[in-house]
Amino acid sequence: MPPELLAERLSRVQSEIADASRAANRDPVSVTTIVVTKFHPASLVRDLASLGVRDFGESRHQEAQAKVAELADLDATWNFVGQLQSKKARQVKAYANVLHSVDRESLVDALGDGGEVRDAFIQVNLTGEEHRGGVLPTNLDALVERVAASTGLRLIGLMTVAPLHGEARAAFARLRELSERVRETVPGASALSMGMSGDFREAILEGATHLRIGTAITGNRPIQG
Ligand SMILES: *Cc1c(COP(=O)(O)O)cnc(C)c1O
Repeated sequence: MPPELLAERLSRVQSEIADASRAANRDPVSVTTIVVTKFHPASLVRDLASLGVRDFGESRHQEAQAKVAELADLDATWNFVGQLQSKKARQVKAYANVLHSVDRESLVDALGDGGEVRDAFIQVNLTGEEHRGGVLPTNLDALVERVAASTGLRLIGLMTVAPLHGEARAAFARLRELSERVRETVPGASALSMGMSGDFREAILEGATHLRIGTAITGNRPIQG
């Protein structure tokens, strides 16, 4: 994408985020925008960085690992937002500053206690669609305790992907309610990673602290994921 077009899309999304924050009586500074760059080349990440973006999201291990290595000179925070395979977990933890998709106890064990302590979100599945990842709300409390007991992860909040068909805002409200319960056990776990290109306004109204926005900023992905 031509750099002017990228700059224009980014600033349009930023002003929509500012508008939604005002509508929600929130300071736009309380909302971190992660630009999801999966399937896009490292050069697009560089273009975004030169426009002031610092927070990037990736969802496929091999692609992410290569991109982070190629862009080691950037002052960037890398967010892993895709499903985590247990056997790749430690490798992902080596380069990802923030993990958004911790969703099972075996994965917490695989992430282990060694290496850097990483910020982590627990991904919650609010739709029952198993292939999309996430822990079911009924199993959330046990997983919270497991992550809280891990010395390799710092639980900072909850993450969800809104249902494909349905009411995004209701799902985000539900995640916020679950988060209130989690904070009784882990007071610092107050972040909410929710809201993508199609539903970030609703997410901001429900208290999102981390938006994961791809196509609204980057345009369509070269290959659809
Ligand atoms: C790809 C992806 C996004 C970004 O989606 P867009 O609709 O392009 O904004 C956000 N979160 C996750 C988990 C993703 O995989």
